[in-house]
Amino acid sequence: MPAGRVYLETFGCQMNELDSELVTGQLRSLGYSFTPDPATADVVLYNTCSVREHAEQKVWSRLGELALRKQTEPGLVVGVLGCMAEREGDALFKRMPVVDVMCGPGELDRLPSLLDNALRTRSALVAEAASYQYADAPGTSAREFALQGSTSRRSSTLAAAADNLELLDLSRAISPTDHSGTAYVRITRGCNKFCTYCVVPFTRGAEVHRPPDHIVDECKRLADAGVIEVTLLGQTVNHYRFEHGAAVLIDGLVQPQKGRVYTHKDGVHEDPYRSSGAGGERVTTFADLLARIHDEVPAIKRLRFVTSYPRSFGDDILTVMREKPRICRYLHVPAQSGSDRLLKLMNRGYTVAEYLEFLDRARAFLHQPEIGRPLTVAGDFIVGFPTETDEDFEASKALVRRARYKNCFIFKYSPRPGTVAIDKFPDDVPENIKRRRNNELLALQNDISAEVGQEFVGHTVEVFVEGISRREQKVARRQAPAPAPASAGIALTVGGKSLSVDRAVDACGDDHGCGGTHIESDTPELDDRLAVPEERRIQMSGRTEGDVIVFFDCPAPQKPAELIGRVQNVRIDGNGGLSLKGTLLASKRHESSFIDR
Ligand code: SF4
Repeated sequence: MPAGRVYLETFGCQMNELDSELVTGQLRSLGYSFTPDPATADVVLYNTCSVREHAEQKVWSRLGELALRKQTEPGLVVGVLGCMAEREGDALFKRMPVVDVMCGPGELDRLPSLLDNALRTRSALVAEAASYQYADAPGTSAREFALQGSTSRRSSTLAAAADNLELLDLSRAISPTDHSGTAYVRITRGCNKFCTYCVVPFTRGAEVHRPPDHIVDECKRLADAGVIEVTLLGQTVNHYRFEHGAAVLIDGLVQPQKGRVYTHKDGVHEDPYRSSGAGGERVTTFADLLARIHDEVPAIKRLRFVTSYPRSFGDDILTVMREKPRICRYLHVPAQSGSDRLLKLMNRGYTVAEYLEFLDRARAFLHQPEIGRPLTVAGDFIVGFPTETDEDFEASKALVRRARYKNCFIFKYSPRPGTVAIDKFPDDVPENIKRRRNNELLALQNDISAEVGQEFVGHTVEVFVEGISRREQKVARRQAPAPAPASAGIALTVGGKSLSVDRAVDACGDDHGCGGTHIESDTPELDDRLAVPEERRIQMSGRTEGDVIVFFDCPAPQKPAELIGRVQNVRIDGNGGLSLKGTLLASKRHESSFIDR
């Protein structure tokens, strides 16, 4: 098999980040190596989210550059993965013949064979061109693709355990060098909601819930590798519900395994395995799953989850969150609009009153600042959705004021190909109005974030240390003898001693769904040209259990590397609006709930 050096760049959501991690592990196990520099790669892959236009534009631009490069490097293999590949389909090959491989998010288990074929085809084309001097041949795409299209390989009869994609998750390569104490774990794939502006149900397919034993086992393996913070991922994570002994249909409904007996009542086909709405031995609900991970994997000191859907969030989940001390009191619950009329056009399935009822209920259960455990909430809003009036926008502002988010992801509406909205609703809000509303809502949210942040000042919070701040890296770059390659990872040398830095975090004003922050994964090939004087204190960054960013200096003689991936106590001295500033303390506050490793 012709393995090669791979450059993989990921755009978009956390689900994509996890997919890229799984792809990386899978390809590594087959002999591929990875490079942080696309110029040295034999295979260039882009794993791209389709939800925002911005990410796709970046990929189109990168593909244009690669088309030029391929004229002199005909053996190069170029691939587009993820939702962009699934949504564009054959049109992507037509628009960008430089692309050799396309693989949708539901087909990633097939990527190795696609790459293998593409590499063989391209080397054959190059050899052919060399012997026949047939100049056009190398420009021909190898055209390997695997897309779900309108179907799904998720069988109506196979249990999820036998699903090939599940095998990809199960094959996750976990080693202590892969994570800096934190990791994502997928619990649900796909989405059944069909919000009119969103392409996800079409690109990732219907909801499929992973078996709880697999999830718990993955958490255990991560904990064994030193992970102490796990974030459970699902598009509508609180919908998690695994019906044991059942298989999942492509429409997300449940079918019992062959041979199981159905009962019939009043002519209705009744499923005995659907009888329990609150869990039980035949059903694992999201609340059950949280409790299992908490109790069975105590080495996980922080358990969080994203993204929550405002409906179907039962008191059973809130009760588990309140009773289990290692479950973070943080919710990311997109609202999208404060106007009932627009929520209906968006097909969100709830009203503003229902959304607020959920927030109030969650706060009644979980907001306990008096014991140092406030509930923090993040929201999502779209401005400029078709037909949005000033009145609708004012309603969104009112909701932002009432909800008191710690931060909000605010997006200007842009019609996305493949969605219902693009065909149904003309994009009739002018760009300048979208921009004004975007800025106005951001300014309002910034004021609220500052108020929420102020509540932390003077208190001590537990911070999961993620890495050296990006500001620190910029300083180090300025002091470096030569600029580091843009895509390369960063290592700082402190007093001549090399420090491997895995993550860098900083506040970000972009509206691309990063949550006001970037987390940049490092690469194995670190640049050791960056140096800071030993006597200068290194600014570190981390997050509270409520996902608030905290910056603090690493105090001498502590070494930054000794802190990364750990939970530490930080006294909050200042409030920067989107982030807090503090001082690292020697002792911990909640010894009973968070025990440093
Ligand atoms: S809930 Fe709506 S916005 Fe979220 S992934 Fe599903 S369809 Fe998209």
